Amino acid sequence: MGRLFGTNGVRGVLNQEFTVELAQGLAASAGSLLGKEMAVGRDARTSSPMVRDAVVSGLLSVGCNVHDMGALPTPTLQYMVKHLGLDGGVMVTASHNPPQFNGVKVMAADGVEISRATEDRVEELYFKGGPQLAAWNLVGVVREVDVVETYIGAVIDQVDRKLISSRGLKVALDTGNGVSCLVAPRVASRLGAGVYTVNAELDGGFPGRGSEPTPENLGALRDLIEATGADLGIGFDGDGDRSIIMDEKGEAVWGDKSLSLIADWYLGRHPGETVVTSISTSKGLEDVVNRHGGRVHWVRVGSVDVSRAMVENGYLLGGEENGGIMYGPHHPVRDGAMVMALLLQILAERRRPLSELIAEQPIYSKAKDKVECPNELKLEVLGRLPGLVEGLEVDTMDGVKVTNRDGSWILIRPSGTEPVCRLYAEARDEEAVRGIIGEYKEKLSRLIEDLKQTV
Ligand code: MG
Repeated sequence: MGRLFGTNGVRGVLNQEFTVELAQGLAASAGSLLGKEMAVGRDARTSSPMVRDAVVSGLLSVGCNVHDMGALPTPTLQYMVKHLGLDGGVMVTASHNPPQFNGVKVMAADGVEISRATEDRVEELYFKGGPQLAAWNLVGVVREVDVVETYIGAVIDQVDRKLISSRGLKVALDTGNGVSCLVAPRVASRLGAGVYTVNAELDGGFPGRGSEPTPENLGALRDLIEATGADLGIGFDGDGDRSIIMDEKGEAVWGDKSLSLIADWYLGRHPGETVVTSISTSKGLEDVVNRHGGRVHWVRVGSVDVSRAMVENGYLLGGEENGGIMYGPHHPVRDGAMVMALLLQILAERRRPLSELIAEQPIYSKAKDKVECPNELKLEVLGRLPGLVEGLEVDTMDGVKVTNRDGSWILIRPSGTEPVCRLYAEARDEEAVRGIIGEYKEKLSRLIEDLKQTV
């Protein structure tokens, strides 16, 4: 991983780690590498107009023309980059981070975040002092474009509007004061659903419930579902790519389960297809996909890796356990509004409550924990771990994932920011998963103590 780009884009506290100078420099480097016609969009953060101006300056200074799409969700910009045949795009956003953060996500011509290799090239150019600037008469021009209506039409084209309209479905939306409020309510109402909203005014301070939807902060959505009798509730993150779903009883549905439900529906129509997901996703997804004769293509943790694997191999469905789902027939990136439309389609077809449909998905228990581990020992610890579990299936694509003979598994990954190793496990039931976590916490602690003695 580079020095600036993290799991998804470059982010930091505004005017400290993330400055307008950095935004301008990164945009100039990205623009000079990606091409002449670049989209720019921004989320609803208080600082986003300032950062947008820096990004626009950077792009113009190297001769790029800017298609300024204004405030909109990240997936809307991503779709439009590809739809308009642009060379790339820069989205000003810090996604679900708190309001004092900002950042950028950079897209390639295919409307997907640039690959890890391209991130490295952008950083290299930036740290070498940036690209050559354009002569005064070759500086680019800015054009404002209104793209939301085109995007909404494209999402609606993916589902059966007539069928959904005929069902009288109701949907409750918590757009979290973020840019989803510009898109999601309109998509739902165009599909003929009754739409109820909370935190639906743009506010860069995210006063409603913060910019990251979690089961704990979606109380207002739960109340809204109860008050309106909604069939489906959705909470969106700050830039509208990730969403958390709630059933008609106000129960939050984990990303794994909503992905399984959508995979079950999609593979029912397209049996044998491949679904892409990260190695931290539940085995329940694999059970569902296998049932339809399909296959799971596992990748490293991170939405960019899922999207890029879809593009490279032509796979049409992907997702992450944290509530990001990529529906390739529309566009292979995480998209909260697209997920909402698909769920309305599924509810309209199946004519049963969401809670029942979710209850039919495979049931596994998951748990997370962590073990303190000095940064300088992390690599050594992960390197030695496979030697301690001889005879079991070990995958070292991203950290170390050990799969037991009964299908239960544990994934151990070093934290990028703290002196800890994180443990993720899944098994048939609570007791089994607690047992696995306990076993590996002990194994790791012993290993770390041994290494401390020898250093
Ligand atoms: Mg996001």
